[in-house]
Amino acid sequence: MSQNSAPRYPLVLVPGMLGFIRLVFYPYWYGIVEALRRGDAVVFAVQVSPINSNEVRGEQLLARIDEIVRETGAAKVNLIGHSQGALTARYAAAKRPDLVASVTSVAGPNHGSELADHLHRHYPHDSVRGRLLTGLLRIVSALICWLDTGYRGPKLPVDIHGSHHSLTTEGVALFNQRYPQGLPESWGGHGPEEVSGVRYYSWSGTLQPGKTDRGRNLFDGTSRYCRLFARTFVRERENCDGMVGRYSSHLGTVIGDEYPLDHFDIVNQSLGLLGKGAEPVRLFVEHAARLNAAGL
Ligand code: CA
Repeated sequence: MSQNSAPRYPLVLVPGMLGFIRLVFYPYWYGIVEALRRGDAVVFAVQVSPINSNEVRGEQLLARIDEIVRETGAAKVNLIGHSQGALTARYAAAKRPDLVASVTSVAGPNHGSELADHLHRHYPHDSVRGRLLTGLLRIVSALICWLDTGYRGPKLPVDIHGSHHSLTTEGVALFNQRYPQGLPESWGGHGPEEVSGVRYYSWSGTLQPGKTDRGRNLFDGTSRYCRLFARTFVRERENCDGMVGRYSSHLGTVIGDEYPLDHFDIVNQSLGLLGKGAEPVRLFVEHAARLNAAGL
């Protein structure tokens, strides 16, 4: 990518649930930040609460956007959110469209995650299994905060119930009523290209036997989990990436929704271990050029 195809505004990468910037030396956006920077894009990988509601995470993101526009002198930013990071970005853009040039959802549960629905049904908060899951999430979240060498801000609050409610079909439906910007009008359709001056885009992948379960994914435990999690899906059983359904991911202009990428492959995890025919980093580099061509 040459200099003149770098986006005009900084790219702000927002992680999903249990996300981070860099665990010691290990980055969340594996190989992606470097690839974008090679094309001269200005890139910020940011951190928000690993476990919290879309609204709390969105407010944290807004504070970070404020810092970035002050630091860079840019008028606004392009937000790219993975998984719950997409909902976090949508919240920020709905509240401050003047500070956001675009929102891009990468495997975002824009209509909820059927995996979250399954956990809601089978691991209720007041059950033993629910308490065990809550305890485990607290430990993992504390470890992430402790090991994240890329984050230097204040201690991030944890709200497990708020986080969970922010990801179920029912919880996201309520979120969508308040923040409908970019959503398609019909299930499986595209959303509007632009709302309140903010451009909306999305892409996602699906599990594809013979592709996503082959190649270097044979050595990636997260790929195995995605195949297990996919069994909890009902509505989009044959059409999900293990954590998010193909149509549930739609937002704004749908760039693609059938890439052979599971929910972790799509951000080049783990360690770039991918299935056959997978090129997640290329999707980010192409998108930077797309934003540039749109004047963003
Ligand atoms: Ca993988």
